[in-house]
Amino acid sequence: MDSEQFRAAAHQMVDYVIDYLDNIRNRRVLPTVEPGYLRKLIPEEAPEQGETWQSIFQDIERVIMPGVTHWHSPNFHAYYPTGNSWPAMLADILSDAIGCVGFSWIASPACTELEVVMMDWLGKLIGLPPVFLASTGGKGGGVIQGTASEAMLVGLLAARSKTLKRLKADNPEKDEQTLASRLVAYSSEQSHSAAERAGLLAGVHVRVLPTDDQLHLRADALQSAIKEDTANGKIPFFVVATLGTTPSCSFDDIEELGPVCNDHLLWLHVDAAYAGSAFVCEEHRHYMKGIERADSFNFNPHKWLLVNFDCSAMWLKDANDIVSAFNVDPIFLKHDHQSSAPDFRHWQIPLGRRFRSLKLWFVMRSYGAQGLRDYIRKQIRLAEQFHHMLAADDRFEFPVAPSMGLVCFRLKGENSLSEALLKRINEAGQVYMIPAKLHETYIIRFAVCSRFTELSDVQASCEEIRRHANETLPAPNQN
Ligand code: PLP
Repeated sequence: MDSEQFRAAAHQMVDYVIDYLDNIRNRRVLPTVEPGYLRKLIPEEAPEQGETWQSIFQDIERVIMPGVTHWHSPNFHAYYPTGNSWPAMLADILSDAIGCVGFSWIASPACTELEVVMMDWLGKLIGLPPVFLASTGGKGGGVIQGTASEAMLVGLLAARSKTLKRLKADNPEKDEQTLASRLVAYSSEQSHSAAERAGLLAGVHVRVLPTDDQLHLRADALQSAIKEDTANGKIPFFVVATLGTTPSCSFDDIEELGPVCNDHLLWLHVDAAYAGSAFVCEEHRHYMKGIERADSFNFNPHKWLLVNFDCSAMWLKDANDIVSAFNVDPIFLKHDHQSSAPDFRHWQIPLGRRFRSLKLWFVMRSYGAQGLRDYIRKQIRLAEQFHHMLAADDRFEFPVAPSMGLVCFRLKGENSLSEALLKRINEAGQVYMIPAKLHETYIIRFAVCSRFTELSDVQASCEEIRRHANETLPAPNQN
């Protein structure tokens, strides 16, 4: 393909993408294919001779689309959203064209410098205290990771390294491996499984703590675990608190947990993967109260802030904690400006990194702070309207209040009824939702995910759910 052929193909692809998203409502949200479907549709080997663009283009509908789950369909209500917007897509095109691997400042100064400034813009946009921002000239700063799971692992590894350095300084005679084997981290039963996974990857035990009846990790639960573990010779060092848990979007109280962490020298990592985007709105910032106690804070603009995957924003109060944990400096990566600009390779697990801050820049400039706030408020309003509609049918109950664009509901009665209902709905494939457990209670999660979702879509989803409820159980009291 030469540049003129690319121009024509790119125009065709842009038209295709626009038509795909403009008409996505007409596609069944869940595909009907079986595992292994795709291998049968394409040759066993790569072609010997190059093919025309047209033959490749035709295979998008034939091979790919039958196996796509349409995350941006207005009927997609599973998991949490994944961001999507025209300006973010434009940024990714540019990032692909520049095609740099911005591991150090000199590897592409614009890549590093835009990221530093965008992380400050974004931090200010959500009301993060200045201590986390690079512009204050202190030790804090932000970095774009790929995912919240990576941010959690980076936080945990940094905490592990910092704790071991301190322990080794206090006990030079002790063996580092033995000290490491005594480390214990904490998450809650409502935390994302990424916390346990980070522990597995880092080779440290993550103890999962119980939550209270409001699904919050409380300071007393943390304190008693610290006491018990310390008495048993363990060394507590890391806590994950969640603002907007995955099952029900509940919020741990940072103001309560922070002092416990600080008093016991535990690294506090705050995971706001989904709900962090809502802090662009002043009215939701109370959930962040006490955030200055945290060592690291993370949220995913690629979830709810209209930025296409991947873009996970992580801030550190003292960036030296990760730089010193992950710093290896081979001669081939050195350059003359190492002390005057960050080299983000020290802030992350891989060496290579894409030019992801372009997405933040284009999105924040295109929507403006007001546009982003309007977007978040609209999504939350749609979830509340859905809740209102479904609550009119007294066969349903809501174990927790709707929170930030997420409604958790169930059929009254045994868990098996709601399980059967969800199975029917997802098999029909018009609306897609997933379940969760709040303690022992099975719930169905309805998250407003797509930027294309309108009130009429939410109404149609509600009708679809009620229709399947009719088939799941008798309807004595339908409205
Ligand atoms: N933390 C929370 C609260 C989440 O809801 C999720 C995913 O939904 C994650 C972490 C993991 O996110 P990622 O896919 O970016 O690793």
